[in-house]
Amino acid sequence: MAGNLLEVSGLTVRYGPARALEDVSFTVAGNTAVAVLGVNGAGKSTLARALSGLVPISAGSIRLGGQDLTGKSPARFRRAGIVHLPEGRGVFTSLTVAENLRMGLVVERGDRAAAIERAFSIFPVLGERRRQLAGTLSGGEQQILSLARALMLEPSVVIADEMSLGLAPRMVDLVFESLERARAAGSTVIMVEQFAARALGFADDALILERGSVSWHGASSSAGSELLHRYLGEATV
Ligand code: ATP
Repeated sequence: MAGNLLEVSGLTVRYGPARALEDVSFTVAGNTAVAVLGVNGAGKSTLARALSGLVPISAGSIRLGGQDLTGKSPARFRRAGIVHLPEGRGVFTSLTVAENLRMGLVVERGDRAAAIERAFSIFPVLGERRRQLAGTLSGGEQQILSLARALMLEPSVVIADEMSLGLAPRMVDLVFESLERARAAGSTVIMVEQFAARALGFADDALILERGSVSWHGASSSAGSELLHRYLGEATV
């Protein structure tokens, strides 16, 4: 898709008197990937949540494909095609893997069984465990399940908030492969990561947040190590 898909302008979020985001503006073209970087407390999760309608914003606007979503409910954001993959797992622990995937399709038309089989072919780890209760999956497998469920909706924007946090390396690889697949299928991916290197390798563009404001925005390939050290420090590069 040509042109800007997502347009964020003057976004400000407050938690009581504290400002978590201050006058954040950027645009994202369709079918690209953006890494949102920053140290602890910089406002990354708040941005991810604001872009999903999950926290109220006190100023600014969010437009998706020309549609104004400012102040709309999380359900409207979701219907507009934005899915938020939370830091937590977000799966129904007392349902099986297959039932969790079916839940993802409740409001969708089309052939559910075929869609679920497709998900199992993409994520064999889930196919092998289709009858297992989601609560008994490993943390990494639960992340993959929540990702698989979200991708079945063919979202226009996937917001992945620290999906690889605490995962085994094999699962981190699977998360990145899955997000790559989502992008190949036409989704725009906004990836929140505390650790920069891998996210930069994946994303076309990077947005660096510092105390709630955008301190740098540009092509990932031009985010040199000097810049990363300046904004993120040793630990996160
Ligand atoms: P981390 O990498 O540690 O998750 P982050 O960059 O995602 O950090 P946020 O979680 O967005 O940062 O937090 C931004 C600021 O807002 C922090 O100062 C945080 O303490 C504050 N904050 C976040 N959530 C709340 C809340 N529910 N109530 C009050 N303050 C909050």
